[in-house]
Formats: sequence, C-alpha cells, structure tokens
Amino acid sequence: MDSSQPAELQNQVVEPEVIKKPRIPPFFVSPKGDWRQLVALAKLIAPSFQSQMSGRFLKVTVGDELEYRNLSHWLEQTGVEFKSFMLKKDRPIKVVIRGLPSNTEPEDIKSEIEAEGFKVAKISQMKNYRSKAPMPLFYLQIENGAEAHKIYDFTELFGTRIEVKPFERGNKVNQCWRCQGWFHSSEVCHLPPRCVKCAGPHSAKDCTLDFNDQMKCANCSGAHAANWSRCPKHPNNAKKKNQSKNKNKNGPNKPKNAPPKKTTPQAPRPDISKARKVSPNLDYSKVVQNQIPREHETWLEPGIDPQIANYRLFKDDRIEFPHTVTRGGTAIYCKNEIVHNRVPLPATPGIDATAVQIKIKNAPPLNIISAYIRKSAQSRFPSEDFKKIFNSGSNCIIAGDFNASHVDWHNVKNTRYGISLRNLVSNLRGAKLVAPQTATHLQPRQRFGSVIDLAVFKHIPYNHSVRVLSDLSSDHYPVILEINLNTSLIKNPEQLSTN
Ligand SMILES: [Zn+2]
Ligand SMILES: [Zn+2]
Ligand SMILES: [Zn+2]
Repeated sequence: MDSSQPAELQNQVVEPEVIKKPRIPPFFVSPKGDWRQLVALAKLIAPSFQSQMSGRFLKVTVGDELEYRNLSHWLEQTGVEFKSFMLKKDRPIKVVIRGLPSNTEPEDIKSEIEAEGFKVAKISQMKNYRSKAPMPLFYLQIENGAEAHKIYDFTELFGTRIEVKPFERGNKVNQCWRCQGWFHSSEVCHLPPRCVKCAGPHSAKDCTLDFNDQMKCANCSGAHAANWSRCPKHPNNAKKKNQSKNKNKNGPNKPKNAPPKKTTPQAPRPDISKARKVSPNLDYSKVVQNQIPREHETWLEPGIDPQIANYRLFKDDRIEFPHTVTRGGTAIYCKNEIVHNRVPLPATPGIDATAVQIKIKNAPPLNIISAYIRKSAQSRFPSEDFKKIFNSGSNCIIAGDFNASHVDWHNVKNTRYGISLRNLVSNLRGAKLVAPQTATHLQPRQRFGSVIDLAVFKHIPYNHSVRVLSDLSSDHYPVILEINLNTSLIKNPEQLSTN
C-alpha cells in the first residue's frame, strides 16, 4: 500500500505545525507506559527529537533523514507502538502490467524484470471479483531508485507487447492493512493489528469469523468490514459532510467541486492528464454512454478509477475479502458544469449505491442514485435498504441493475425480487417505476433477455424517455434515461458497471 504524506488525525484539536522542507515524515507514537523515559532515550538516538500530543498519539518530528532512520529502527527494536510514513525516496513505484496472458506466472515476470536491473518489492495478479479468475493484469511495486522510472519503458516481455501503466489510487484514501487506520500503510505501521473483519487483535488471515457471522468495524464498531468505503468514520465520508455544509457558501462563479478548506493530500482532485495515460485506448464517448467494452471493465475495479475530462467520478467499491480480489460496485460520472455534490447514504448491506445530488436551473435538488441490488442467498429483496435510499432526498432517481423481473415491466415471468419491488413501489408515496421496453440483460442459455435495469423515480414531475442501446459489449445493455426539465433535455449522469 501507499505510504502517504503526513496528513494525520482529522479530529485533532491542535493544528499540526508547518512541516519544514525537505520533508521528513513524523512518527505517531502511542504514549504507553513510561513515556517520559521513552522520550529521554529517543533523544539520545535522534537529538533533534521534538514531540507534541496529536489526538491519542505523541507526534514526533526529527530533523533529517539519518535521524529518521535511526529513530525508526530504534522504535521498532524497542517494540514501541507507532506508525509513520515512508521517506519519499523509499516509496516504491507502483505499476500495472497489461498485455500478458492471465496464466503467466508472476514469479516469471519478476525474474524477467529483475534481470533488467529492477528490484521487484511486490508482485500480484489481479482477480475478477465474481469468478475469482485471474485477470491479465499484474500489479507490481518496484523499489525506488535513480533508474526505477525506466520501468515504464518496457514495451515487451517474453516477446509479447505489454503496457506498463502507473497504478492509480484515484481519490481513494490509503488504508492500513494492519491496524485499519487511514493515511498510512502497513509497511510503516507498528500499531497493534486489528482485524479487518472482526476488529480483533489478529490479521484477517487468522480470523475465525465465519462467513455468515456479523462483522465488526475496527474504526466505528459498526456491523461491517473496516475497509468499507461508506463507514461513517471513513475520511471521505467525514469530508463529504463538510462539503455539503460548505456548499452554500460557494458563489455561483466558484468551481462547483471546490474542495473543502481542509483537504487531505491523499484525496487529490482527478488529474486528467495522468488519467488519460492510464487507459489511452478507452473511447471516452463510449464510457460516457455506458458502453464499456468488456475488457475494460477491469478499469472500474477498486483502486483504478478512470477519469474522464470534464466529469467527476463518484465511486463506491464493493468490499469483499481478501483485499486483493477485485470486485463490483457502483459509480456515477457527473459533468463538472452541473452543480453537484455527493450524498452520503446510510448503510445498505443489500444494495450497492452511490448518490450524487444535482441542481439544475430552477428545478429542486435531484438525488441521482446508481444502485445495484444484490442477489441474496435467501432471495429476499432488501426492501428496508431500498427505503433508506429512497428517503435520501425528496426528489430522487434510483437507477441500476435491480435483479428484478416482472410481467408489469415487459418480462416473460415474475421473480420473487420482481414481485417484492412491484409491491414496494406501489406502497411508497411519490414512487414510480421506470423500465425500458426491451431487454436490458442477456441470460445465458435462455431465449429471452430480461428487463432488470430499471429506475425508480421519487417525485419526478418531468417527462422522461428511456431506451436501451443494443450495443453488445457486456451481458447488460447500456440504458439511456433522459429527463426533460422544461425545455432542455438533460442527460442523467450515467451510471457505470453495476453488473
Ligand atoms: Zn496501521
Ligand atoms: Zn478477525
Ligand atoms: Zn466503520
């Protein structure tokens, strides 16, 4: 994982002092036991040692790289609980290799690259979240050094054309695999381990939690995994609250997505120039039209957020184990010129959802929600979750893969989900189900497709049209939903990859 800039402790009362350049990362030490003795001894190791309380930690700064290394080593040897950040020059270069067959052995790639003088600190193959099948994508960490950036010059491996791309974190916050804290990585974490599933003092691989057992979040104690992106303690969610609080202060001429005053360096604004480099062969107009070619779906998986010029991406990755397995989720691309902000949603374990509120002209604020209704083992429609999303605003459009078929919306048969959804919508005030006329999903080995990519409107008093593009690039067809606000046709910010 990434070693991040020192931007620690959102809730601290004391503002951190201005950090001198060149930047030597601070240490955050748990002041357990006789901390005064610890300070006295540490000063012998690093004479420039300075400390002050910051949250529940003693924040320690030292003057130079040598002292940083010495103190780091000493703290580790002494068994002190602490975390820090990597020196910039120590941070590995993270890349993804595309173009090799998925049955290539990572070890072979490693030897091949090391034969060229690089040092591979880590290599792993990315996997499909559903099938767990290995994908033709290899993630590598290259040890930093003067020549390390030359890794990008590789165009061929084993006589086959490849691409080496920077691994982009996008706007994802770095979370520690060891203690589940944010903004630092496990390599520099010496805090007690906390399990991502049960918050216990062990690593996830030693967890005894059963598949059906309730999880416990190490950060908020809620019934979810600690790496869930919608955890109320997650820095992005805390930030979003500030954002909506501040949004009225922004004048009409200010940028629509001006960051809140206190931003974290880990959540950079989308860098379009870099993003274009990530996937130059993506046809952006197609992305916007929800026509992601199948082989590009991988780019919507966790940790890789494709950016589109003039659009802002909101994305919630589905959380499963282990961390390295790629999986699904929901996303919305919103055009920058539309006044918008993200809407935090309550926990809905049965539905993956991403919500953005948009304001257009004199129309009331509209919540656009990209949703994927999960198939549950007991095939019980998550009605309570759906109501929570439905109640996220007074005017909503919830759209996505609902996994629900009913003859009322042009299917050949009713499914349990379909019957539940139909009943639910007829009982919700102001709700209206919007479905295309033709199949949106192709069923393997079945003659008819099904209409399961749907929308539910809440108090949307405008004309609309919905159509399916018969572009076969996925098992789901792209669906275009247009809302006619007065005279102008406004395209709903498209949702992506809910299948
Ligand atoms: Zn940690
Ligand atoms: Zn556990
Ligand atoms: Zn939590």
